[in-house]
Amino acid sequence: MATTKRDYYELLGVSRSADDAEIKKAFRGLARTLHPDVSNEPDAEERFREVVEAYEVLSKPETRQLYDRYGHEGLRGGGFTPTSFDLGSLADLFSAFFGDDLFGMGGRAGRARGADVVAQIEIELADAAAGVSREVPFPVTVTCATCGGSGAKPGTQPVTCATCNGRGRLQQVSRSVLGEFVRSQTCPACGGVGQVVEDPCLDCEGSGRTVEERSLAVEVPPGIHDGQQIRISGEGHAGSLGGRAGDVYVQVHVKPDPRFVREGNDIFCTVDLTMTEAALGATVKVPTLEGEHELRLEPGTQPGTLHVLRGRGMPVLQGFGRGDQRVLVNVQVPRRLTEEQQRLLEEFDRSASAETYEADEGFFQKLKSAFR
Ligand SMILES: [Zn+2]
Ligand SMILES: [Zn+2]
Repeated sequence: MATTKRDYYELLGVSRSADDAEIKKAFRGLARTLHPDVSNEPDAEERFREVVEAYEVLSKPETRQLYDRYGHEGLRGGGFTPTSFDLGSLADLFSAFFGDDLFGMGGRAGRARGADVVAQIEIELADAAAGVSREVPFPVTVTCATCGGSGAKPGTQPVTCATCNGRGRLQQVSRSVLGEFVRSQTCPACGGVGQVVEDPCLDCEGSGRTVEERSLAVEVPPGIHDGQQIRISGEGHAGSLGGRAGDVYVQVHVKPDPRFVREGNDIFCTVDLTMTEAALGATVKVPTLEGEHELRLEPGTQPGTLHVLRGRGMPVLQGFGRGDQRVLVNVQVPRRLTEEQQRLLEEFDRSASAETYEADEGFFQKLKSAFR
């Protein structure tokens, strides 16, 4: 895990002379508002980790002194690495720091956020350009309707767990960079619920949750890139005992379009001209993301000429404007000639001179200024 470069005092919003109590108070306040279970801000997790790191350093005299004198470099030199932690275990982390419970769950850790669901869809490039709505089916665990999530057969009740006496947690002593502390751990016998099911519900086999097929209409925004994902908050697997549901991540695969090559927001395509079309000039139909576009090519068009169709590329995702479409001209030289055709070309060649092939400077200057 990368260590933050930001100033620890600034992260906690305290002055350099803040005492332990102030630092503790600032951290508690920030942790409660920034935890991803509570905050919907997209950068909440990142900020939360930074705040935890800041607290780890500033709450301990040795690391705080090192930081005050030498900054981040000093800490690294002193061998400090921030504790890496799983956000799901935040309640444990909090009770580790303060010996109490973050969200006032009364020591019952059975309430847990549901897991996330990952679903996949595949769309055409043209749909990625225009934006598209898609029904996305996925299996999701929901609260069992038969037992209402208790896991007990209807008519029976779960009984108090004997291992933890219904507290749902067991105390354990462990070590970390903060020193030794009493950590309370989820009871393995009841999974933190404090109760065990003796007569399980037949529909969910005592888990309190069943699997259901769900379908969501997902709006794919214009300009999406292959491999990007859309997060739909709170539509994932059910949490346990009323905990928040997880999220759904819809991974979007944009099918390659054989007519185009996409590079960022620009698209490229090629157009074939016969040798005579290139020499005489021609109007050709070019495929675009919105159907065909007529392109007038001047007499004497050279292979490798690039035409730019401004604003015909992909839209900028969550932004304004569009990329361009670049059309590369390919000139097809005949590969098999009849005797008659060969004779005609030779005759043409005899009538041609250096001037026939000479570049029209005015024309090229125009090209350059138009397409640069
Ligand atoms: Zn059930
Ligand atoms: Zn228990």
